[in-house]
Amino acid sequence: MKHLRVLILNSTYEPLQFCNAHRAIVMVLKGKAEQVECDGKVFRSPSVTFRLPTVIRLMNFINIPYRGIVSFSKKNVFRRDSHTCQYCGRTGGELTIDHIIPKSRGGSTSWENVVVACQGCNLKKGNRTPGEVGIKLMKKPYRPHFLIHNSVYQSAPKSFVESWSKYISLKPSAL
Ligand SMILES: [Zn+2]
Repeated sequence: MKHLRVLILNSTYEPLQFCNAHRAIVMVLKGKAEQVECDGKVFRSPSVTFRLPTVIRLMNFINIPYRGIVSFSKKNVFRRDSHTCQYCGRTGGELTIDHIIPKSRGGSTSWENVVVACQGCNLKKGNRTPGEVGIKLMKKPYRPHFLIHNSVYQSAPKSFVESWSKYISLKPSAL
């Protein structure tokens, strides 16, 4: 049970982080959190029996200054964009980072101006903007508040991942 990850939501239903199932159960038993989503599996101890949570929600709001929670890095841009070219949807292969408005033309290196792109799209675009080349972004790049390590998905049962997806807008390429 230790390896099972449970998604913790703030009282406002915003995703905060993952913890292991044991900690999640303790938080529920102590009245610090409530179960929001459950797996079919039943957890039994000598004194209690209940369904294994996959998502819990804190009873008290935790104020987290969001700015800076997810630091800007190439690795995190890849995670935000699910290792997918944001122009053509290609995954895998040689992926790179593209400045939407080229750096040489004053484009910033920021969450809002940097996306994952395949070599083909990157080359085609060159030193131009998507509009000039006639290609479109699949979605508007944004500063993420929450990112998930692929390992969390890989180790999770399908039922867990499905229940998380209601609360996490980012769909991993694994889904
Ligand atoms: Zn592409």
